[in-house]
Formats: sequence, structure tokens, C-alpha cells
Amino acid sequence: MTATAPAESAATQHRTNRIPVAILGATGSVGQRFIQLLERHPWFRVHEVVASDRSAGKTYHDAADWRLETAIPDDVAGVTVKSLGAELESRLLFSGLDSSVAGEAEDDYANRGCAVISNSKNHRMAPDVPLLIPEINADHLGAIEAQRKRRAGYIVTNPNCSVMGLAIALAPLQQRFGVEAVHVTTMQAISGAGYAGVASYAILDNVIPYIGGGEEDKIEAEPRKILGTWRDGKFEDAPIKISAQVNRVPVIDGHLMTASVKLRDRVSLDDVRNALESFTGEPQRLGLPSAPRRPIHYIDAIDRPQPRLDRDREGGMAVSVGRLRACPILGFRMVALVHNTIRGAAGAAILNAELLEARQLLP
Ligand code: NAP
Repeated sequence: MTATAPAESAATQHRTNRIPVAILGATGSVGQRFIQLLERHPWFRVHEVVASDRSAGKTYHDAADWRLETAIPDDVAGVTVKSLGAELESRLLFSGLDSSVAGEAEDDYANRGCAVISNSKNHRMAPDVPLLIPEINADHLGAIEAQRKRRAGYIVTNPNCSVMGLAIALAPLQQRFGVEAVHVTTMQAISGAGYAGVASYAILDNVIPYIGGGEEDKIEAEPRKILGTWRDGKFEDAPIKISAQVNRVPVIDGHLMTASVKLRDRVSLDDVRNALESFTGEPQRLGLPSAPRRPIHYIDAIDRPQPRLDRDREGGMAVSVGRLRACPILGFRMVALVHNTIRGAAGAAILNAELLEARQLLP
């Protein structure tokens, strides 16, 4: 006679009923991160993978030039890649599509009733699309209701990878003291440009003081929406002036940035530091699976954060901040670091979907 099985825990039950998801752009840098981060996810499992016609019809193993440090998960390696636009069984779609195709394709799937969680720039600034960082603006999910008036599903976006680091570092300052102006200079990793993005001959022994695709414009615009409000059916930008200068540097992963900040209130360095260190939000309150325990790690060492040493804190989901000191022009200055393909892309989108599931907003 066999012994009675112990009652399943709630976590195990959720694991056995994991929600099937599709990855759009599954073969790219961000797409591969999605596959990696979802391998042991307690709520979601990869069911379908989608890419260009170059990849469609092949197994994921053959289509993806896999470049991450872990092996392709066994249950994804043999899945056949579908072409963009194909009918999908999944209702939750993570998109790491190239921006040249993301706009139309994401609209199309949202119109068909899917929840599309996107990394691309195309819909970020739309008047009824949340540009979501759950620690900062979970209330912006109110825009989904407005979006659903024009279609069956919806799109939720996460910001540009550098904006993720900047907005998280600014959020506690904006909430407590008001931010009036920011001057930020980024040093961005090559993975941010996709695998074929920057030729090794161009970036080795070099720094390129330009990133195409409107990078500086995004860094100047997106934080204003993120740190702004959703009220009476519309977004209102936070009135922050931002000046951005961007550089591509020979680092694989991790965008570092130096920022000088002008605050509305007169506060001390200790006040600013306390605000950074105690920052927490909805994912931490809800205990979402991908939430970092602390969204900001303040590092005391005089020469940190550094990409190689600090980008993987809390599985790449924490933003590191250091070198907080007075700035003779704007008041305060600091250094921030974000893992661009985890917290700045795939990990951010997964956290967004976890918040949607926790709020029972997934189709
Ligand atoms: P990537 O490595 O170049 O990957 C692009 C993906 O899009 C591939 O799966 C590719 O499929 C697919 N694709 C390209 N053209 C297509 C077409 N005509 N039809 C269907 N699929 C097509 O780019 P990435 O770095 O992962 O970036 C993906 C998106 O995330 C971009 O919008 C980017 O701006 C954004 N993003 C990137 C980062 C980052 O750190 N890398 C951070 C935040 C946001 P094939 O392999 O079949 O060509």
C-alpha cells in the first residue's frame, strides 16, 4: 500500500499549472534572456517561440545562435520556431522584437486579445500604454482599461535599458524631495545593441560617443512619463528637465551612468542616501517571484558600482548606486548601474507580467 502524498503547497500547485507564454523575437539577445530567465519560473513556462522568416520552421536549437552562459533549456531546444503573425495558443506574449517590426506585430497580437509585454520602443510613449516599472508606477496599469476600449488585448512596455537604471535611482528622490533637473552621461554595454549591433573592430580599444535609434531622446523623455502620473484617464509627465549624453563602451553587459541631480527641496546627503537605501515598492510588498529584495543597492566603496563586479546583484534585478556626493552645479551627483538585458529588458518584462498576474489582469 502506498503512503498518501502530502498536500501540495500553493507554490507547487502554481508550478504545475504554469501559464503558457510565447516569446516574440525569441532568437535575439533579449529573447534568449527570456528563455533563460523563464526556465525555472514558478508561474510561466515557454510554450511558443517566434522569430523572423530566417528562423521560422527550424527548431529553437538550430535557429538561435545561443550565447548565454547556461545551456538552452531542454524543453525549449526542440520547439519549432513560428513566424511573426502566426496564430498562437499563448495569451501572454513577451516581445524582444526588433523595433523595425515590433510596432505593427505587437498591435496585431494585442488586437487579437493577447497581453503583449514589450521591450521595444514603439509603443512606450502611446497615451494609453503603461511604461511600467512596478516599484514606481504600478498605478499606471489603469491605462489598460482605457486601451481595452479600442481592442481585445493590450500592450504593456518596459523602458529603455539605461532609463531603467536612471528612473529607479531617481524614483525615491522624486517621491520624497522632487527632482527638477538631471544631467546624465551613460556608458552602455555592447549587448544593448543586439548580437550583430557593434563590430568588434569598432568597439575594442575604443569608446563611441553616439548610439543611434534616438537613444538620448529616449533617456530625456521616458523618465518623465514613468515618474509622472496616470490621472483622469491620461498620463501627465513629471516636470523634470533631463539632458543626456550616451556612449558605447567595450563592456559585454551592464550600463553604467553618472548623473547630477537638482532637487526641489533643500536636503542633506544623508537624506538622499536614506531615500535610496530604503526604496521599495509593490513587487516587494507582493513578494513577486522576480522582485529583488532591495531594488537599489547602495555601495559604499569609492570606486563602485562597476559593471563586471555589480551587474548581477539579485540575479541582475537590482540597480546599484554609489559615489553619492555634492555637485557644485546641480546639488548632488551619483553613479548608477543596471544589467541591461535583465533588469533593463527581459527581467523587467517578466516582473511586469508577474504584477499583471498578481492583479488578475492577464487574459
Ligand atoms: P536582436 O538580438 O537583434 O534580436 C532581434 C529579434 O527580432 C530576433 O529574434 C529576430 O529574429 C527578430 N526579428 C528581426 N527582424 C524580424 C522580422 N522582420 N520579423 C520577425 N522577427 C524579426 O535585438 P535585441 O538586442 O534582442 O533587442 C530586441 C528589442 O529589445 C529591440 O527593440 C531593442 O531595442 C529592445 N531592447 C534591447 C535591450 C538590450 O539590452 N539588448 C534592452 C532593452 C530593450 P531572427 O533571429 O530570426 O532574425
